[in-house]
Amino acid sequence: MTNGTLDYEAVVIGSGFGGSVNFCRLAQKWGDKVLLLERGKRYPMGSFPRTPQQIANNFWNVEGEDIDRPQHIRKNSNQSLRGMFDVRLFKKMDALFCAGLGGGSLIYANVFLEPPEELFQQGWPATVNKAMLQPYYHVARAVLGARPVPSWEQEPRRKIIRTELFQAFAKHEGRTSTLADINVFFGNQYSYEGGNTPLDIGVQEKNRYGAQQTSCTYCGECDVGCNTHSKNTLDLNYLHAGEKHHGGKIRTECLVDKIVPLNVAGEDDASANGSHGYRIEFKDLNLGQVQSCKTQRVIISAGTFGTNELLLRCRDVFKTLPKLSAQLGRWFSGNGDFLSFVPDGQKPADPNYGPVITQYTDYNLFKDFKRNQGFVFEDASYPSFLAWYIEGVFPAGLLRKTLRLLKAGWQWLKNFCKTGSWAGSLGFLFHELLKGDLSYKSSVLLCMGLDHGDGTLTLNKQNRIDLDWPQDTSMPVYQAILDAGNRYKEFVKAKLFIPLPTWNMPVRHNVTVHALGGCILADNPEQGVVSADPQHRGEAFGYHGLYIADGSILPSAVGANPIATITATAEWIAEGITGIKPDASLGIPAPQPIVQELQS
Ligand SMILES: Cc1cc2nc3c(=O)[nH]c(=O)nc-3n(C[C@H](O)[C@H](O)[C@H](O)COP(=O)(O)OP(=O)(O)OC[C@H]3O[C@@H](n4cnc5c(N)ncnc54)[C@H](O)[C@@H]3O)c2cc1C
Ligand code: SF4
Repeated sequence: MTNGTLDYEAVVIGSGFGGSVNFCRLAQKWGDKVLLLERGKRYPMGSFPRTPQQIANNFWNVEGEDIDRPQHIRKNSNQSLRGMFDVRLFKKMDALFCAGLGGGSLIYANVFLEPPEELFQQGWPATVNKAMLQPYYHVARAVLGARPVPSWEQEPRRKIIRTELFQAFAKHEGRTSTLADINVFFGNQYSYEGGNTPLDIGVQEKNRYGAQQTSCTYCGECDVGCNTHSKNTLDLNYLHAGEKHHGGKIRTECLVDKIVPLNVAGEDDASANGSHGYRIEFKDLNLGQVQSCKTQRVIISAGTFGTNELLLRCRDVFKTLPKLSAQLGRWFSGNGDFLSFVPDGQKPADPNYGPVITQYTDYNLFKDFKRNQGFVFEDASYPSFLAWYIEGVFPAGLLRKTLRLLKAGWQWLKNFCKTGSWAGSLGFLFHELLKGDLSYKSSVLLCMGLDHGDGTLTLNKQNRIDLDWPQDTSMPVYQAILDAGNRYKEFVKAKLFIPLPTWNMPVRHNVTVHALGGCILADNPEQGVVSADPQHRGEAFGYHGLYIADGSILPSAVGANPIATITATAEWIAEGITGIKPDASLGIPAPQPIVQELQS
């Protein structure tokens, strides 16, 4: 129980995978005595931006945060921007992550992939391994509804050409392509345990937690927010259950700035160890006011950059958490992320149809594990409105189309003079203009793997997060990815393989969307920041009731897409705090149809 002077049993900071799990599980125990503070907005169905103007304003750039961002975001923002995309520029690596209720789930590619057992054998504390985490992976997979895309044998509309192309490449390479488990809603009887019958495309129903979703429409827009709520984002499962069923409180557009331990009198006391709770100071961005609340315990889940920045500021600038480990900020990993493009091949790729990622091809991550080189090779899609844009901006494509149009016009004129017929001319001209478009035969390659995980997060001169990424130590995995990309180019008979533009000399920047580390799990404070001891899971060394649960606690790259492991470790930590064994019901009785299906 709270000791009377405290407002909450727990305050959760951030609503990504770590934060949502903890909010829901703690609300199962303490109801409205749990508060979640999230800096971004809510995104109800249909609210994700689509017009150029809306997307241009959908970045994060609030005043007072002196952060290096791309020029156009800073220049175009005469007011503070509170959109989803948070872009950071560092010396050797840039990063993209998300602000909004649901954190990275709002723009993620939905992949749920457990790393292999071998991963945990080096750099991870002995208590945290695949066997220990397995039940938590299982619960996370069930709540997030992870399944591969439905078969298209019976239903041609579900066919994804890109998947077949990547499968053919894997075969050509002598590698294994596996359909990825993705957290996308294809109806209750398909997405959740027990059923194998997808709901018709575009039809809506309430999911097992009571949130309205639409059976995936294959629009390819997952990375800019799913306007039909077909992605199983966290606001539709963990957060929904925590808020609507268990009464937990959520405040959005509240940016946490400071955590201060309290003494026995309930006063700020930097020498206290958290036994008497904490005061959380935050800015309500709508009111423009600094507010605070007091809580018995705090779960920091602000994502790798957010959590490290908050804690480094508390330790080194405000000096309110001086006992935090000296390891804070160490062992950062970009999870070997590498994005590249193969434009204008000779084989259809159709990258504008279907969920963003559908398969992964294994290169020594799962089979013949190689610690410095293992990676996965994934297909990616992008929204069709971008395909129209690409068609318009590439001069080679324009020239080709102009010539085609002139040829078609000449054919039409000859036909008209001969027969006097106009019939079909408009349709024919359109067909000639659009056929064989550039995007249809272009591929986006998304790879990630085992980088060296030896980056360091610090504060810059403005006391904001900074990254030192010693890229060279991770070159074996990047080189293996570059080689595979070049072979893909040969396979589809394209002329170009283009690693992301920032990789070109002299810049040579990586871009990560999978930032990990800095507050790693360890056996003692000399090795990491939070405890791997089963009795103190995720608790910061030096403090009571100060927990961290997000990507920052993973001690190394996981090679696979990381949310499976972030969610599983968050479930493990939440169980340690509440003593409640997690299951996929989230404390809500399953709706009748699902129960019947499981019984029959
Ligand atoms: C385009 C894209 C595609 C991706 N696809 C996949 C995929 O398919 N599979 C996969 O496994 N991973 C994917 N990822 C990565 C995945 O999204 C992240 O690894 C994951 O979201 C990290 O979870 P987290 O709990 O650590 O933090 P986050 O999800 O980053 O959540 C942190 C939250 O804290 C909030 N916050 C930060 N600071 C504060 C503060 N001071 N006060 C209040 N709130 C704060 C943020 O706004 C955010 O909502 C993708 C990422 C991107 C960008
Ligand atoms: S493909 Fe479209 S409808 Fe399906 S999950 Fe992605 S964004 Fe949503």
